[in-house]
Amino acid sequence: MKIAIMGAMPEEIAPILQKLGEYKTTEYAKNKYYEASYKGVELVIAYSKIGKVFSTLTATTMIEHFGAQKLLFSGVAGAISETLKVGDLIVATKLSQHDLDITAFGHPFGYVPEGGVFVEADKAMIEMSKEVARDMGKTVQEGIIATGDQFVANEERKNWIGSTFNADALEMEGASVAVVCDALNVPFFILRAISDAADMDASFSFDEFLETSAVESAEFVMKMVDKILE
Ligand code: SAH
Repeated sequence: MKIAIMGAMPEEIAPILQKLGEYKTTEYAKNKYYEASYKGVELVIAYSKIGKVFSTLTATTMIEHFGAQKLLFSGVAGAISETLKVGDLIVATKLSQHDLDITAFGHPFGYVPEGGVFVEADKAMIEMSKEVARDMGKTVQEGIIATGDQFVANEERKNWIGSTFNADALEMEGASVAVVCDALNVPFFILRAISDAADMDASFSFDEFLETSAVESAEFVMKMVDKILE
């Protein structure tokens, strides 16, 4: 089996590469991919760069070029739900693109013909994440994640995304990765640790907590890999 572990920024995969210690680096499609064996399975790891387009390219490459059969995303997000605080973990049940808008034609936000507003994540891995959380003594919230090509640092925009998609957290890559995995029949798991509250202080909070939250997420994702291998 080959498992992809993906982030958007270097900080999000650094803890994973550090844990693995040894890996092979391949340059492909203007990005770097890291391959390692871990407990008898092959891993391919990469950060895509920020946003929906780069994350689409990387997820597709990991599957089509490197042969990944499952994909786990680890990263940080802005909180919408009041119950999510900096450092808390959220597992995506389903994801939507909040900036996809052809509502002028009477369609709902996030929808284009032959697409759907939401893409659902793999239920088996969501179930596994509950066990992992129990094993680690951590609380993980399940919820809807909304994705768009914007760093949201605005209460009004955040609340709109929250009410329009019933979303609990927002970020910039999850839904595009979900579309790729769904289309290519690759089970996926999207985990995020909160770095900010997507409000006027978001950029400061993000800068302060990116690294610690990225570590929280990465540690959990590696435990997910362990659980998959059990
Ligand atoms: N610090 C970076 C920019 C980070 S963009 C720089 O200066 O280059 C934010 C990243 O973290 C994205 O990958 C996104 O997925 C996630 N994220 C965290 N908080 C977010 C928020 N409030 N809005 C959108 N994305 C957020």
